[in-house]
Amino acid sequence: MATGSFYPPQRTLMGPGPSDVSPRVLGAMARPTLGHLDPAFVGMMDEVKTMLRYAFRTTNQLTFPVSAPGSAGMETCFVNLVEPGTKVIVCQNGVFGGRMKENVLRYGGVPVMVEDTWGRAVDPQKVEDALKANPEARIVAFVHAETSTGALSDARLLAQIAHRHNCLTIVDTVTSLGGVELKVDEWQLDAVYSGTQKCLSCVPGLSPVTLSARACDAISARKARIQSWFLDLSLVMAYWAGDGKRSYHHTAPVNTLYALHEALVMLEEEGLEKTWTRHAYHHHALRAGIEALGLEFVVPETERLPQLNAIRIAPGVDEANVRARLLKEYQLEIGAGLGAMAGKVWRIGLMGYGCNERNVLYCLGALEDVLASTGAPIQRGRALDAAHAVFTRGS
Ligand SMILES: *Cc1c(COP(=O)(O)O)cnc(C)c1O
Repeated sequence: MATGSFYPPQRTLMGPGPSDVSPRVLGAMARPTLGHLDPAFVGMMDEVKTMLRYAFRTTNQLTFPVSAPGSAGMETCFVNLVEPGTKVIVCQNGVFGGRMKENVLRYGGVPVMVEDTWGRAVDPQKVEDALKANPEARIVAFVHAETSTGALSDARLLAQIAHRHNCLTIVDTVTSLGGVELKVDEWQLDAVYSGTQKCLSCVPGLSPVTLSARACDAISARKARIQSWFLDLSLVMAYWAGDGKRSYHHTAPVNTLYALHEALVMLEEEGLEKTWTRHAYHHHALRAGIEALGLEFVVPETERLPQLNAIRIAPGVDEANVRARLLKEYQLEIGAGLGAMAGKVWRIGLMGYGCNERNVLYCLGALEDVLASTGAPIQRGRALDAAHAVFTRGS
């Protein structure tokens, strides 16, 4: 018996990613596949690089999407910059800082951990102290937008501190790119990686990266060979750069790159600053509704990400059952807690194309209905009223 075609159900994705993909992006993916060295394709690759520079606010020559998800961008930065014995200050305030540590260890580096409470930003003073105590450190690595907790760290300040101590920075911007202010050149960030599936409204599977001239010099000065063949930037760039002449390194995910191209066109059309404002605006409306439901945010207001809302689960609530019902009855996905926050929080994403008035109202209405039906002390209608008040005010 033959297996039938797969038709996914139509969900609304409001978790930590993947987020809802724009139909324009999905449409772009269905265009004819080209050879990966076809001049028409190479021209499109150049446009992707130019538009990524716009998104990252950088003029870095070495800016391109790694052909694999965000985690591969992380590996690219670490494997190219960390040599055996390199000391790296790794800031951890959630799940992804822990993965940075794992990267450093696997490439033979020596991680020095700077730990902060989950749900808080990275404490710059602790980073300063760690650098003073470890003058031989060469790199400071941190997550700009910690998706596991919803905390935003001060990337500009952390980079300033790192440079004062003669260190490069490796910065995770998987969830921040296209969602909150990010200025790679102005903030002097060195090795920066992101993802397509969070605030760029694109499908998963690519990892935009950008490296400063300082980072490139550090890679050129390496003594030890780069431990990964696939992620070795000097090899990858023979395919992604070079005037006119490109040589085969791997087969690019051609149609996924059409998707990223379209997503970046949409970002340019809207304008980067407007995108940041849109995320903040819809977060305010969601917050008003969440608070009207009597629920609390994990992260203090000044350190909070608009695009990832971590909400404490009240005692006695069967959190998995609520998520299962949202999926079944509303076709709505919200995120569970990750790592140390498993079972303690829900994570509601307002990312990219999915960050809109309809989704805010839909999510609040669904959550209110499901919670009220489990007997939670909720007055129906209040969450939507609170969100509507923000939308009516327009701020
Ligand atoms: C999602 C995410 C990643 C990993 O990206 P994948 O596309 O899942 O590999 C890394 N860092 C942060 C902060 C993320 O949110």
